[in-house]
Amino acid sequence: MDFKDYLEKPVPCTCGQVHSVGIKAIEVEAGALNRVPFLLEQDGFQKPFILFDTNTYQAAGEKVLNVLDQKGFPYKTHLLEDLEPVPNETVLGRILMDFDPSCDLVMGIGSGTINDLSRFLSYQSGREYYIVATAPSMDGYASKGAALILDNLKVNFPCHAPRAILADLNVIAAAPQGMIAAGFGDVLGKYTCLVDWKLSSIITGEYYCDQIVQITKESLEKTIRYKDQLGTGDQEAVKALMEALITAGIAMSYAGSSRPASGSEHHLSHFWEMRYLLEERTPILHGTKVGIAAVLIAELYQYLLEEGLEPETIAKTAPPDGQNWVQDIKDVFLAAAPGVIRLEEEVQKNSVSSHKERIQVIAQRWTEITELLETLPPAEYMADLLQSVGAPARPWQVGIDGELVQRAILYAKEVRHRYTILQLLWDLDLLADYALRASSLGKE
Ligand SMILES: [Zn+2]
Ligand SMILES: [Zn+2]
Repeated sequence: MDFKDYLEKPVPCTCGQVHSVGIKAIEVEAGALNRVPFLLEQDGFQKPFILFDTNTYQAAGEKVLNVLDQKGFPYKTHLLEDLEPVPNETVLGRILMDFDPSCDLVMGIGSGTINDLSRFLSYQSGREYYIVATAPSMDGYASKGAALILDNLKVNFPCHAPRAILADLNVIAAAPQGMIAAGFGDVLGKYTCLVDWKLSSIITGEYYCDQIVQITKESLEKTIRYKDQLGTGDQEAVKALMEALITAGIAMSYAGSSRPASGSEHHLSHFWEMRYLLEERTPILHGTKVGIAAVLIAELYQYLLEEGLEPETIAKTAPPDGQNWVQDIKDVFLAAAPGVIRLEEEVQKNSVSSHKERIQVIAQRWTEITELLETLPPAEYMADLLQSVGAPARPWQVGIDGELVQRAILYAKEVRHRYTILQLLWDLDLLADYALRASSLGKE
């Protein structure tokens, strides 16, 4: 099945839901840019508002404007002046002040940040948007949320999916190798997030869909088969990667949440991102962090398997001591602490009673959980995969020190109400030990 087939119509599924996506067109081909005027005409748009920065103008923007000029198609452009634009209040405000209300479509030319900005702008202004991808660097193209920075904190705004995704292989295969490697890391994170999802369905009874998992796994495995060509700008390899990234977005639309694409590895990545933002450090590409985090999470899964726990002992586990929890959260999350504390007050995931409920299920279904843990590839294998595309595989390679690794493992789970290996380890009172152990990896 071609991955585009998922777009055609709502799919009734064995999970009981009818899955659908809001995207009308996905073009991952050499020369896809030339089709921009044709698509606009077909969709009945008269005048796009086009966003790009200096880099993405050179990569694809100039070409898009040329094909529009050739057809005499009117448009309005906005150049983001910063070299590394941040999707915050100031940048959004500038775009809004320059926005031309006679435009009936927003067209983003770029990747992560420009995708988030165009998605948000189009949603808030009641218009649709196209995204012209310039790099296969992250899996947000087909998703519905916009990750913006508000008051120095990352906030995810629910918006809509693009009407069209255009990825010209001549453009994305020429993207900087670091961005291709980051995209590969984001795809690799599906290994751990899919196991996390299943884990939650066993322990908390959360909704789970085998079909979605299947679609995601197939695109992950296809990308891995191309690992040796990904470092060479090979178009077929980059196509497989881009399709896997888009498929992850489709999977999220199908599930109605980011569950099929984001688990504990993303929680670690978000934690590091937030700390970097608060400390005003130069950001690391999302997919790069996700890849590194996925290796760490696989490490934690391995520790747990090696522990050789028995259901009888599991059933007797007391919850970890939570006496200093509020103070710890304040120390770790700084300005973001109130939101984290509020979330726990609401969902009570660390309360004695919810721990008790879960620990009984964990003990009862331990065999099934162990079998699930065994399905995850070893951390070393995942690290090798990352290295084969030239991506960093360990935190210290990108300047994340042991302390930040330890804190992420301990506290990243507090940012979202989503059951993963991190909460399971907390339930088993192993999280603190493992966080310490994982943080000293590679130090000896
Ligand atoms: Zn389903
Ligand atoms: Zn991601």
